[in-house]
Amino acid sequence: MQGKIDVNGGLLLSRRGVERPVYCPRSPQPKPCCHHCALFGEPEYKNAAVADLEICEKTLHLTQFKDERAMGEDKEEKPRLIK
Ligand code: SF4
Repeated sequence: MQGKIDVNGGLLLSRRGVERPVYCPRSPQPKPCCHHCALFGEPEYKNAAVADLEICEKTLHLTQFKDERAMGEDKEEKPRLIK
């Protein structure tokens, strides 16, 4: 399965060659599955492109995976001093 986490933390899976957002089956209203959910895991890389991603009820084995969050501003964020 191919998929990615977009720059906003949303999960998209490739369905019939098109990346489509994944909606949360637990939400009463259409809501994207994303990293703001406490049940959304972090990718466990098997190699540079292959990762397992644990979400609430299953682990997705993504054979072509991209995490676009790494290209966002978080990467550039400077460490903050705790006072
Ligand atoms: S991890 Fe599960 S509960 Fe959380 S948003 Fe995604 S599908 Fe919904």
